[in-house]
Amino acid sequence: MKRSDRPAKSAPAPKPAAKARAASAPAAKAPAAKAPAAKASAPKKAAGLPVRRAIVGLLGGIGSGKSTVSEAVARRVKASILDADAFAREALDVCARDGRLADALGSWAVNADRTPNRKAIAAKAFDQASVLRALERLTHPAVTARIEDAIEDHRMGKGAPILMLDVPLLIEVGLDRRCDALWFVDAPDEVRFARARARLKLTPDDVRKREAAQAPLDRKRARADVVLDNGGSLAALEAQVEAALRTLGA
Ligand code: ADP
Repeated sequence: MKRSDRPAKSAPAPKPAAKARAASAPAAKAPAAKAPAAKASAPKKAAGLPVRRAIVGLLGGIGSGKSTVSEAVARRVKASILDADAFAREALDVCARDGRLADALGSWAVNADRTPNRKAIAAKAFDQASVLRALERLTHPAVTARIEDAIEDHRMGKGAPILMLDVPLLIEVGLDRRCDALWFVDAPDEVRFARARARLKLTPDDVRKREAAQAPLDRKRARADVVLDNGGSLAALEAQVEAALRTLGA
C-alpha cells in the first residue's frame, strides 16, 4: 500500500521520558527561519534505539512542537535535523548582501548594515502574496538545493541513520514523496497560539496568516503515517516519540 493511502495512526504512548525545548520562526515565513543550526547535526548523546535508515518528514502547524519532536528524536537515536527555515534565513542573508533582495522588494527590505529587515519583510509577506512569492523566488532555489543534497547524502548511506525534515512546505513541494515516514505533530489551536505567542511573539492572527500560505493542516494530518498528540505534557510527547521511533525499528 502506498503511504499516502494509509490512514494516519497515533503512536501508542508508553512510559514518559524527558523534556524538550524551543525553536523559532514561523513556517511559511517563506524566507522565514527557525533557530538551530542549518547544518543537520548528530546529537552528542543518543540512546541508540534500533532504527533502520529512514527519512522522516515532520508536519504540523506553527507551535505544534515539530522542533521539540526533532530534539526528542535526537536524544534517542543518531539523527540529523534539517531545518529549512534556517536554510531560508541564510539564503535571505546572502540575497541582502548581494543586492538581490533590494532589487526584488525594494530598498526598504534591507537594513543599513546589509542584513534583511526581517520584521518589515514578515509584516508585508503575509499580507501581500506578491511579496511572499518574490521572497520564495529568491530563497527557494538555495533551500531546495541544500535539502536535495541532504537527502541524496542520506540515500548514499552518509551521516546519521535518521534524517528529520522540518520543512514548512514539505507537502507543497512534493518532498513528502521522498520520506519513508510522515509524522504530524498535533495540538489544539489555542495551545499552539499560546506557544507561538510566548516563543515567537506571534498573535493568533499572525499564525493564521502564515499558515494560510501552506496546505491546510487537515490535509497534512491526513497524509501522516503517525500523529503525535502534543496537546499535553512534554513527557507525554516524548513517550509518543519513542513509540514512533520504534515503528522505524530495524
Ligand atoms: P514548532 O517547531 O512546531 O513551531 P516548537 O517545537 O518550537 O514548535 O514548540 C513551540 C514552543 O512550545 C516551544 O517553546 C516549545 O518548547 C514549547 N512546547 C512544545 N511542546 C510543548 C509541550 N508539550 N508542553 C509545553 N511546551 C511545549
